[in-house]
Amino acid sequence: MGTLISNIRMLDENGTLKNGEILIEDGLFKEIGHELPKEGHEIVDGGGRFAAPGLIDVHVHLREPGGENKETIRTGTEAAARGGFTTICAMPNTRPVPDSAENIGKVNELIEENARVRVLPYASITIREAGKERTDMAELEQNGAFAFTDDGVGVQSAGMMYEAMRDAAGLGMPVVAHCEDNTLIYGGAMHDGKRSRELGIPGIPSIAESVHISRDVLLAEAAGAHYHVCHVSTKESVRTIRDAKAAGIRVTAEVTPHHLLLTEDDIPGDDANWKMNPPLRAQEDLEALHEGLLDGTIDVIATDHAPHTAEEKAAGMEKAPFGITGLETAFPLLYTNFVETGKWTLKQLTDWLSEKPADVFGLGYGRIAEGLPADLVLIDLEKEKTIEPETFASKGKNTPFGGRSCKGWPVMTIFGGNIVWQEGQQ
Ligand SMILES: [Zn+2]
Repeated sequence: MGTLISNIRMLDENGTLKNGEILIEDGLFKEIGHELPKEGHEIVDGGGRFAAPGLIDVHVHLREPGGENKETIRTGTEAAARGGFTTICAMPNTRPVPDSAENIGKVNELIEENARVRVLPYASITIREAGKERTDMAELEQNGAFAFTDDGVGVQSAGMMYEAMRDAAGLGMPVVAHCEDNTLIYGGAMHDGKRSRELGIPGIPSIAESVHISRDVLLAEAAGAHYHVCHVSTKESVRTIRDAKAAGIRVTAEVTPHHLLLTEDDIPGDDANWKMNPPLRAQEDLEALHEGLLDGTIDVIATDHAPHTAEEKAAGMEKAPFGITGLETAFPLLYTNFVETGKWTLKQLTDWLSEKPADVFGLGYGRIAEGLPADLVLIDLEKEKTIEPETFASKGKNTPFGGRSCKGWPVMTIFGGNIVWQEGQQ
């Protein structure tokens, strides 16, 4: 006996929405087609909704262990399910950091006990992400590390990054980088530009990011590593990655919804719900990010979901921690602003959030195809709703998008053949 999802619309290879049905058995997509035999199966009426592969977010901060006041694996994966994500990759800036077999083992146990969707844990490049001493990558790989990153901070030493890339290449694992040169940050809290000068808030120049990317693509070339750049935010970064790809260097990159949607000019004032790292940049940066996404320089969209408490965010731009939540708003925001407006196709958006991240990281799923894990999201493309942070499943209510009206809301999320969330469920 299986589960038959009837009355859904799916994208074909040309990006056209077609009516169809999906049969799920033993947690896998068993058959995809029309008018499949119904006998003996549980029928789930999809209500004519758009069925997309379960979304994949390669950049999520779940905070547990150590930051459970901000988020837990339970609340973070509930937020993921509500946002249509069935696979999320957890960043290692937790306490402890997954920097040893023992520490990543603890993370794996917590995931096993609490996660509602698939969580792939990153391990760190350096011990405690302190940038002083490298981790044992082979040991971490054997203990379930998904990839390596010191996200939250940049790896400052070129030599250390080079050695890490050589080891990772030997293991066939990607090195994923938050690119930031600490000598170029100048205590900044937002983008160093027109708006930071207007507000009198110290700025982070674009070169803090692009200089690191320039260094790293050369190191990746020399090491033969797969190098993935987190949350690209500047036009110079896009240009550098484009040039590196043209030179045959194995570099991939992600961009966040907020960097595609907002610029420094949108920042209303001293409000830390607009503070994230990298910061919202200038209009020409936003335009370069769009261009980079459309020409394949940037491979995927990832949220950098970074929950913090209301108290922490109340401290203002200069003192509050960096980061905003993203899992529960990504699809509707991008659909409303870029697909409904005709800038992107529905297939482009869906691919950047499923097939592309799966391909970049060699995951083998991220599409609706027979024999693959039955990870699926049903999305109501007509449903219009206002973003209300207080209703988030995430503990983090820190978003600059509260009050925006969007279309394209997930209404049912299926992970490994099981419904893990549906509309109306808390
Ligand atoms: Zn980061």
